[in-house]
Amino acid sequence: MEPYRIKVVEPIPLLTREQREAALARVQYNLFDLRADEVTIDLLSDSGTGALSAEQLAAGSIGDESYAGSRSFYRFRETVAELTGYAHILPAHQGRAAERILFSTLLEPGDTVVSNTHFDTTRANVELRGCTAIDLPCPEAKNLDSREPFKGNIDLEALERILANPGDSRVAVVVMTITNNGGGGQPVSMRNLKQTAELCRRFGVPMILDAARFAENAWLVTRNEEGYRDRTPRQVAEEAFALADGCVMSAKKDGIVHIGGFIGLNDAELAKRCNQLLIATEGFSTYGGLAGRDLDMIAVGLKEVTDPAYLAERADSAAYLAQRIRDVGVDILEPPGLHALYVNAGRLLPHIPPHRFPGHSLVCHLYLNGGIRSAELGSLYLGEEDEDGNQTKSAPFELIRLALPRRVYTRSHYDHVAATLEQIAKNPESVHGYRIVEAPAILRHFSLKLAPVPN
Ligand SMILES: *Cc1c(COP(=O)(O)O)cnc(C)c1O
Repeated sequence: MEPYRIKVVEPIPLLTREQREAALARVQYNLFDLRADEVTIDLLSDSGTGALSAEQLAAGSIGDESYAGSRSFYRFRETVAELTGYAHILPAHQGRAAERILFSTLLEPGDTVVSNTHFDTTRANVELRGCTAIDLPCPEAKNLDSREPFKGNIDLEALERILANPGDSRVAVVVMTITNNGGGGQPVSMRNLKQTAELCRRFGVPMILDAARFAENAWLVTRNEEGYRDRTPRQVAEEAFALADGCVMSAKKDGIVHIGGFIGLNDAELAKRCNQLLIATEGFSTYGGLAGRDLDMIAVGLKEVTDPAYLAERADSAAYLAQRIRDVGVDILEPPGLHALYVNAGRLLPHIPPHRFPGHSLVCHLYLNGGIRSAELGSLYLGEEDEDGNQTKSAPFELIRLALPRRVYTRSHYDHVAATLEQIAKNPESVHGYRIVEAPAILRHFSLKLAPVPN
C-alpha cells in the first residue's frame, strides 16, 4: 500500500466522449495541444508532475531568497554532496540546462560521446556542440518480450572497441543513463556500471551519470542483482555515484519536485569552468536558475526518494498496472520498470502500417475512450518522410509510453486505464490510422498536425 495518505486533493476533469472528440479535432490530433482541463488521467510524463510531501512544502516555506549565499543553497549542497560524494555541486533549473553547461565546457566540436542510450535532450546538447552521440545498448534491449532484469546496460564489448579504436574522433566522455529512459526505462546493473568505469579509467575517459532516476535504478538493483539484495537503495545509489567522475541530474524525476536539476563533479578545474557558464546563462552559483524554495524542496525530495517503502509501492503499483494490461491481452515492454509502461501498439494494431502511425492511433483512442493522455514512441517520433509525405524511415518498434507521475494516481485510476485498453483490445479493427498534414522540421512530435484516415 501507499506509505502515505492524501491531505490535499485536486479534482480531475471528467468529460463526455463528445467533448473529447471535439477537443481532439480542435487540436488536429496532437495531444500536446490539449488543455490540461480536457485530460482525465495524464500519463504524458513523469517529469515535474509528482506530488510534493508536506515536509517538502514546509521546507519550501523556509526557503531563503537571498540573491547570493542563500541558506537554502547550503542545505541543498550538503544533501547532494552527502548523496553523491562529489566535491563540486552546481544547481541548474532543470536537467537539460545541466547537460548544456557540462557539454559546452567538456566537449570540443568533433568529439564523440558514448552512452548506453542518450536521452533526447542529452543527444541534442551533444549535437548542438558539433559532436557525435553514439548509443551502445546491450543486445538484450532489442527483445521487447525478454524479462532479463538489466536491459538498460551498455554493450561492454562495443564500448571497449570504440575506446580502443576511436578513429579520427576523441571519445570525450561516457554517459551512463540510470535508468535508461530512452531504452524503455530499463535499469543498469552495478556490475555493468563497474565494468564501464574500469574501461573508462583504462582509456582515460571520464564517466558521467545521467542520474534522473538514480533511486529507481538502485531499487531494481536491490531486487534483482546478486550481492545487493541486503543493501538499501540509498547505499546502492551512493556506490553508483562513487563509480563515476560526476553527474547531471534532472530533479524533476527522482528529486520529486516540479523544477530543478544539478551538476556534480570531482574535477575542480572543470567545475570552475562550468561555474562561469552557469553564472552567465543560468544564474549565480548559489541558485542556478532556481528559487531558494526550490533548492530546499529538492533537498527533502532527494532524501524521501530512496525510502524503501516509497520505492516498493512505486514498483508494486507499476507492476499492478502491467499485470492488468497483460490480463486484457495487450503486450508491454518487459519487464516493467518504475517510471513508465511501454505498450506494444504495433502488435495490438497490426492492420495499421507504420506510415499510418499505430502508436499514435492508440494514443488517440486512449484519449477518446477514457480521457487518458499518453505519448507515442514509434514512427511519429522516430520516423521520417520525404517531401511528398512518403515514409523513408520507420521506427524499430511502434510503442506508446504510459508515464507514471510520482505519488499522484492510485490503483483505481490504473484500473480505469486498463479498462480503457481492454475496450480497445476487444475491437482493435475499429481503430484507424492517421496521416500528417503539417510537420515542423525538428522535434516534430510536439507540434505536428494530423488527420484521421478511415480503414
Ligand atoms: C528528463 C531527462 C533529462 C532532461 O531533464 P529536464 O529536467 O527535462 O530538462 C535528461 N536525461 C534523462 C534521462 C531524463 O529523463
